Amino acid sequence: MDFRLTPEQTEFSDSVLRFARRHLADGALQRAHAPEYPWDVARLMAGQGLLGIALREEDGGQGGTLMDAVLAIEAVASVCPRSADVVQAGNFGPIRVLAEYGSADHKARFLAPLLRGETVISVGMTEPEAGSAVTDLQTTATPDGDGVRIDGSKVFTSHAWYADVILAYVRFGPGVGGIGSVLIDPKSPGVRFGKRSSFMSGEEWAQVYFDGVHVPADRILLREGGFKRQIAGFNVERLGNAARSLALGRHAFAIAREWALQRRQFGRPLAEFQGLQWKFAEMKIKLDAAQLLLYRAASNADRGLPSPDETAIAKAFCNQAGFEVANEALQVLGGTGYSQDTLVEYCVRRCRGWMIAGGSIEILKNRIAEGVFGRSFPQRAG
Ligand SMILES: Cc1cc2nc3c(=O)[nH]c(=O)nc-3n(C[C@H](O)[C@H](O)[C@H](O)COP(=O)(O)OP(=O)(O)OC[C@H]3O[C@@H](n4cnc5c(N)ncnc54)[C@H](O)[C@@H]3O)c2cc1C
Repeated sequence: MDFRLTPEQTEFSDSVLRFARRHLADGALQRAHAPEYPWDVARLMAGQGLLGIALREEDGGQGGTLMDAVLAIEAVASVCPRSADVVQAGNFGPIRVLAEYGSADHKARFLAPLLRGETVISVGMTEPEAGSAVTDLQTTATPDGDGVRIDGSKVFTSHAWYADVILAYVRFGPGVGGIGSVLIDPKSPGVRFGKRSSFMSGEEWAQVYFDGVHVPADRILLREGGFKRQIAGFNVERLGNAARSLALGRHAFAIAREWALQRRQFGRPLAEFQGLQWKFAEMKIKLDAAQLLLYRAASNADRGLPSPDETAIAKAFCNQAGFEVANEALQVLGGTGYSQDTLVEYCVRRCRGWMIAGGSIEILKNRIAEGVFGRSFPQRAG
């Protein structure tokens, strides 16, 4: 067992860091407070080969590993936390499910512009009555001419405003076995957006309604029976979510460390107070432990999909560690940490959301406990 990065991984990580310092350092604070998707960053990253890092070369990707994509998130977030979302969208999100299960036509129509940084893809799983219990989803796909008719609605769909396509989980029939997915063009007749709302992070969302939306047969991604495969692909998204939690915790930690060295009170730098030194020691322990769990899940996946158990453990721990470290970093900066003049409070707000998004910490712990006891614990009443 070797806990060091390989020379190739170190070289890749350093090259992404140089890119980030050159192109993303300026404007990092403004980007964090802008609700719009940073399209300029997406195009720059496409040019740098940072979109589709772990996708197959024949699909237009770079043929790298999930670990490479994790390293890219870390390097980018250390300079510009908001830009790490672009690495997520171009590598870990529904783009991976599309690349994994899409047809040649899907890849030509949707994947190619995603990899050029021109578009984004959303995933619509959550519904008003189906959050953690996602398999309770009620959006239906019923036969309609040469395809299906979609009726239902989704909430909290990230990027849906400006997405080129929504990968929507839909019900072809009853039960978990009846769930599959379709690719919906948000400009299709029958797609409607509700009132705009903002998350605590500043990201905007709106309920998306599908009222008799016609989806041709060639835009069906996975038919009934596809749920397990979709969730297998979704574990990649969870890994990216874990990586961003850790990376933003680390970003806040680095700011707090510098602050503690420079800020003086009672005639001494803050770093000389033991009450704060122990905070830093605890932060460091959490960050290092989270990193080991994240790297285990990513490395073991190599070029495939990550293990559900290792991903659940990594995500639950990184989500918690990222938030706790960013929150402690804010405390170290005092009133300045609570102000929007530094990125620390942004890191706290973003990390808080990832404790809920992509499988909440509680739901992940349910899964981990099932592994511990080697049996399932049905959550449903009755
Ligand atoms: C920033 C952000 C981005 C998101 N992006 C997307 C997106 O792009 N696409 C999408 O489809 N969805 C997205 N979501 C939605 C997200 O997946 C859901 O919020 C999440 O699955 C939880 O569902 P819920 O909000 O309905 O909470 P609920 O399911 O109502 O849960 C409420 C609370 O109860 C806990 N809980 C529920 N059941 C159990 C149980 N059996 N055991 C223990 N605890 C339980 C939960 O952990 C939670 O703390 C996003 C959410 C956030 C915050």
